[in-house]
Amino acid sequence: MTMFKSTRTLLIATLAVAACFPIVAGARADEPKKAKNVILFIGDGDGFNSEIMGSYYHTGKPWGESYQNFPIVLGSATFSLHKHSNGVTEWDPVKEPEKNMGYNPEEFWKNPGNANWRPTNTELTDSSASATAINTGHKTLNGRLNFDPDGNPLENFAQKNIKAGRSVGVITDNQISHATPAGASAHNMARGNYEEIAKEQINEVPLTVLMGGGHPEYSNGVKRDKNPDELNYQYVGGRELWEKIKADDGYKGWKFIDQRSQFAEYAAATPGSGKELPKKLLGVARTTGDLPPIDGDVDNPQMIVEKYSQETVDAIPTLTEMTLASLNVLSQNENGFYLMVEEGNIDHQNHSNNAANSVMEHVCLAKAVDAAIAWVEKYSSWDETLMIVTADHETGQIWGDGTYVDEDNNGKYSSKKDTFESFQKVPATPKGEVPAVQYLSGGHTNALVPFCAKGAGSELAKEFIRGKDEKAGKFWNFSGEFIYNSDVFNVMSAASGVK
Ligand SMILES: [Zn+2]
Repeated sequence: MTMFKSTRTLLIATLAVAACFPIVAGARADEPKKAKNVILFIGDGDGFNSEIMGSYYHTGKPWGESYQNFPIVLGSATFSLHKHSNGVTEWDPVKEPEKNMGYNPEEFWKNPGNANWRPTNTELTDSSASATAINTGHKTLNGRLNFDPDGNPLENFAQKNIKAGRSVGVITDNQISHATPAGASAHNMARGNYEEIAKEQINEVPLTVLMGGGHPEYSNGVKRDKNPDELNYQYVGGRELWEKIKADDGYKGWKFIDQRSQFAEYAAATPGSGKELPKKLLGVARTTGDLPPIDGDVDNPQMIVEKYSQETVDAIPTLTEMTLASLNVLSQNENGFYLMVEEGNIDHQNHSNNAANSVMEHVCLAKAVDAAIAWVEKYSSWDETLMIVTADHETGQIWGDGTYVDEDNNGKYSSKKDTFESFQKVPATPKGEVPAVQYLSGGHTNALVPFCAKGAGSELAKEFIRGKDEKAGKFWNFSGEFIYNSDVFNVMSAASGVK
């Protein structure tokens, strides 16, 4: 007999105790912890090589970010659905989960140009279809926000949380009504209907926090435009709604802020300290477009000032400040919360094939995640909070230098004009330097993206594995197992019990 009790001995001991005391349900030691809080970070357009490129710049290591080393690291397949001209969607993974027709590792790895490969029944996703998948568990057509391929509205995770008595926050460094934050909070058949989307976010969904860009009166945080273009108002629900928000502090219960110092004040607050935190916080940073990455330096804040001016830096909040302010406000609800944070400019920089700017946006994401990790460890715990860091799709077809030979010597890489040599990893690069990569596309691809999770219920992700890409696993140093982006919803729902 070893000194360890056998399972049988333990069972007998448990039964003996159970005879004297009532059995407490749900006390099994191996049962996943229930997530009271769910924090979801989305790096838009942030594939594996984009993440590795950013990590070298930020940490000097290929996979050096704290979230990249979370206990759960899987791939996520992001394809969206395709509707044929006869109106038929050939395959819906919710209806036929046994089929895996959307991501084919063998096809993908034939050459980098094949990262665009997709079966005819699927599409390369856009951010709205992916946000729908992530927030509802249903793949849909591109352009749609929480509507299925047949045009039926889908209840999203925000609505389910609100029904369950929890608070919901949605923040982004793009406009508040842009595709990813819209997918986490609103419904529309077309992602471009910004005015309708913002009206739903501000007037109808009882969100607790909404933050991002889209300020109609400022182009760059500095100089107020007294006669803004009428189109500028669409991102905040139109001129009439905007004037109400500004004129009447407390419109629909919202506390409205638009200056960096206000975001910073709520970010620095201590939850539960008795210091006044608003019940509902609407923060619109002073930029009509995207927020500049004013937190995107590694060790040289002066570089940011040179790029964006001190006035802009003083005016625009960081993604970290927005994240902390949101967590402080949301955590006033004892029932828990769901917070979605988007770093949307990684996508925009990868569309522009601008590695130097992409890595700065990566730093903004990494700093915001680190701040949220520290917040969880100080004010909550991993026993009650689930954190996921993932992407909605890959953008740019990024590979290490040397993957293609630049035949026409134009400094650009094209799978049609240049010659494929072999897949190259993003090369090892010291901290603070931008790795030498090749962008093969200005668009989205079908490549797997990272899914990293930690905390309450995170291990449930393994129950949703759809397949294995051995080569991706070897190339990017993980198991190669992948889920679908729609399984992000499944994991959040299973972990939190919010269904
Ligand atoms: Zn994009």
